[in-house]
Amino acid sequence: MRVIILGAPGAGKGTQALRLCETFGLSHLSTGDLLRVEVAANSLIGEQAAAFMKQGQLVPNALIIGMIQDRMARLGSGGFLLDGFPRTVEQAESLEAAGIVIDQVISLQVPDAVIIQRLSGRRIHLASGRIYHIDSHPILVDDQSGEPLVQREDDQADVVANRLKIYHQITEPLMDWYQQKPLKLSRISGLGTAEEVYSRIEAVVQE
Ligand code: AMP
Repeated sequence: MRVIILGAPGAGKGTQALRLCETFGLSHLSTGDLLRVEVAANSLIGEQAAAFMKQGQLVPNALIIGMIQDRMARLGSGGFLLDGFPRTVEQAESLEAAGIVIDQVISLQVPDAVIIQRLSGRRIHLASGRIYHIDSHPILVDDQSGEPLVQREDDQADVVANRLKIYHQITEPLMDWYQQKPLKLSRISGLGTAEEVYSRIEAVVQE
């Protein structure tokens, strides 16, 4: 199973991806998580990506495509789920050019107003990518490790506005691009609890 999960920042991609990967035994590849680890480690990739991420800009295609291809080469033959990649048509084309066949694209749909509310209260556990919201998880430590949760710098209101603009202008057109391809494309409402959204996703993945 080779799946892509698409959606605006804060649509719930990360939360749903972790659960889908656990249930279906898929490898989870989140370019955002990979980049945040590179930034925290002060690696060359991290240094090159940090300024773009801070401003809510996309990291240049060449950098991101190189990073993900390197990861995918080490995956073996098992199934995977791509979360946060591709974000541009050029990135999607790079998968095709590398002969990587995708079976299913899931697009999580959430109105901008809900996204803004969600991201302002979002906190993450950096090492695992686990995601929380201050309303439902006011104790700011990770359930499993007990380590502190942090707010992403790019979850600040002005940066969120920029990320949403870029999503609508550059990433959303990918849905039309994938519509032309011989794969299953499902548009799913990302509203409601994580549990409700997961049930909708599971139903289309199992079909
Ligand atoms: P995310 O955690 O998926 O929201 O990603 C956080 C940030 O990492 C984005 O706002 C971009 O700056 C960068 N990023 C992640 N994935 C990509 C990608 N596929 N293309 C370009 N930039 C990316």
